[in-house]
Amino acid sequence: MNIQELDHKYIASTYARFPVTLVRGKGSVLEDDAGKEYIDLTSGIAVNTFGIADDEWLEAVKAQLYKLQHTSNLYYTEPCARLARLLCERTGMKKVFFSNSGAEANECAIKVARKYAADKKGEEYFNIITLTGSFHGRTITTLAATGQDSFHADFRPLTPGFIYAEADNLDDLYSKIRANKAAAVMFEVVQGEGGVNPLPKEFVKGMEKIAEEEDILLIADEVQIGNGRSGMLYGYMNYGIKPDIVTTAKGLGGGLPIGATLLGEKTAGVLTPGLHGSTFGGNPVCCAAALSILSRIDEKLLQEVRHKSQYIVGRLDGAPGIRKITGLGLMLGIETEKDSSAVISECLEKGVLVLKAKDKVRLLPPLNISMEELEKAVAVLKEACAV
Ligand SMILES: *Cc1c(COP(=O)(O)O)cnc(C)c1O
Repeated sequence: MNIQELDHKYIASTYARFPVTLVRGKGSVLEDDAGKEYIDLTSGIAVNTFGIADDEWLEAVKAQLYKLQHTSNLYYTEPCARLARLLCERTGMKKVFFSNSGAEANECAIKVARKYAADKKGEEYFNIITLTGSFHGRTITTLAATGQDSFHADFRPLTPGFIYAEADNLDDLYSKIRANKAAAVMFEVVQGEGGVNPLPKEFVKGMEKIAEEEDILLIADEVQIGNGRSGMLYGYMNYGIKPDIVTTAKGLGGGLPIGATLLGEKTAGVLTPGLHGSTFGGNPVCCAAALSILSRIDEKLLQEVRHKSQYIVGRLDGAPGIRKITGLGLMLGIETEKDSSAVISECLEKGVLVLKAKDKVRLLPPLNISMEELEKAVAVLKEACAV
């Protein structure tokens, strides 16, 4: 059996994979088992921040791997302490809980919000308000948080205590908060899986104001848009708001699994010994990887991200077959006249990997993709979109 046959026989059929077996890569170029090369505009869904096998990242990972790959959270280790300090210094948040994925980072945020509200206002203030079109993960609780009914079918009953307010409707948000004793409102500033839709600035600012008035927490889910992708270190920084909890994962480890829940002034003291934990959380190798990634997301790189974003939008906006471009930085959604799946297949055929989000073509290139590779890939994409 070849790899694809083996996969079909033995792997649970949850993924509709493209008919490609990837074997290696370097930077923004991937190679399949037949030696065909692809320019990668996916970053493994916003994970490979600096592409494949980036030299500096590799060195950091290798060095840690040879020293100590895992302890347990019963002992102190250096990489997680240093990473937590850097995350706090760069965001102004106060404490960090490490886990292994976006869903887990959100689970921790939800636990913290409920505990905070229970201590402060009473146990009945357990509701978390999330927005329609949001995506927060695949566990039963983060599915409940996800404001898209299509994800809920087949898995009910979901964790109770999640209320959906309409995205970009402050009146609805206000009435949902008023009608349900709420602990927090949780949101992505750019809804990724929901179709690469940025929330309008007035809505996000209004949300912060309501949260303050009603004394509920603001949880920014930065799992996809975070870690430089938006053109700022975290997406919420584009909006001038100050969340009480920030969750992140995907791009933080540059390809190794790590999730982080950042706790602000109000929530830093909520977690006490025994309240939460994770066997792999704060793993030294993953934290060394993340430390290498985060320390390289500086103003120069962020400028580069914004510049590349403008380049892509400039090349594609108004081009034949392209209706609209949405998103922020290097997280872009393209509304095409053709069916987006057809565009994606044509790109694949011509050696460019792109993603889908709802009905759009979604681009999430490595932040350090070279202009030469980006130009080539955008030309292919433009041709594939033309009707
Ligand atoms: C991907 C994603 C998650 C879930 O992350 P996992 O690592 O797959 O658990 C949560 N929130 C957002 C916004 C995401 O894009």
